[in-house]
Amino acid sequence: MPLDLSALARQAEDAADHIEALQAERQRQILAAREERGRATGSPLAARVRARVARPGMAAIPLDEPRQVVRPLAEVSEYTVVSADGSHLDQDHHDAIRHWVINIGSARLTYGASPGAALGTVTRLGFRRGDLYRVMGGRRVRLQGQLLNVVRQVDEMDAVAGLCVRHPGALGLIDGTLVLSSPSRLLDEEPTELVALYLSHVERARSSRAIVASYISRPAAAEAVTALRIGACPERECDEACRFGEGGSRACGAFTDICDRDLWEDLAPGERSGLWRSLWPISDRYYGTHAVHFFYWNSGSEIARVEVPGWVAENQSALDRLVGVLRAQVRRGDQGYPRALIEAHHRAVITAQDRRSIESVLASALARSGNAAHTSAKETIKRLGGI
Ligand SMILES: [Zn+2]
Repeated sequence: MPLDLSALARQAEDAADHIEALQAERQRQILAAREERGRATGSPLAARVRARVARPGMAAIPLDEPRQVVRPLAEVSEYTVVSADGSHLDQDHHDAIRHWVINIGSARLTYGASPGAALGTVTRLGFRRGDLYRVMGGRRVRLQGQLLNVVRQVDEMDAVAGLCVRHPGALGLIDGTLVLSSPSRLLDEEPTELVALYLSHVERARSSRAIVASYISRPAAAEAVTALRIGACPERECDEACRFGEGGSRACGAFTDICDRDLWEDLAPGERSGLWRSLWPISDRYYGTHAVHFFYWNSGSEIARVEVPGWVAENQSALDRLVGVLRAQVRRGDQGYPRALIEAHHRAVITAQDRRSIESVLASALARSGNAAHTSAKETIKRLGGI
């Protein structure tokens, strides 16, 4: 048995004993944050967030009053929504032929006078030298892990842009964030060609008169909460004591552990928060007119985060249309999730069975070419389930 279950059971008991106290503390923090949201004024808060020198946590800039609530808008009934979602299999050095797989699922749903739907999947096998490595910042980097994730995000936006071009005026919807996972966590130089490529796809969608947005279910970000804490700080700027919650009775220390979703749990169904501009470095420095903005929205079943590029954020009728389409989409979705994202996701998923199919396709291709598929001994043991 790989787990010490009796020790785990004792600790689970302790955790259960703590849960009431934790929930009471969380409620206190949420109330404190909402009070601050009610007191804060947009432009001085924006200036204070912009001016800070230390960067304790990711904070966003309010474009509207933090307390602003936008009333529910009517559902849009005549529209086309397109979306893409991806999954991938990473390189594994035990494989007979080194490779990765990116699978992009897509959906186009049209409602109104002439309804229609089209679903698609594009599976890409990377095996050439140029697929397996990239030269970035003067170094040769294996295209795997985080970097493969970034390539997949770029492919998703490419697919959405392609559909937007074929269906002018569509809503192009991405599952997850518009902030490209930073290749700079691995590399020094930015913007890399991947950032430029990603933004060229967003630009292509924009030129087709599309509205581009992304949808995040159960968002964990605390950028607005962090901004409110910066605004509430009695010091000139939050210091370490504030950040680690050791600032005694400082107002900024009264809500250190909650996220934006908690703050906006008081939105009524269909309502959204005001707009905020994200300060994620990659967006703030390199996205230009595509800079990521966001709002929180009560979909009827949860508080979701919706991200949009700057050119959508500053277009009131595009924003209204976006929310109206999302309302129509969640009503058609399962458990309040936009239908188009569900369809694209189902097309993108790589199941255990798909994995075996990919392996056998590769093995038979190798066999035909006269090369036996030599899997490493270690991998054989893993696949047999050990001893
Ligand atoms: Zn502080």
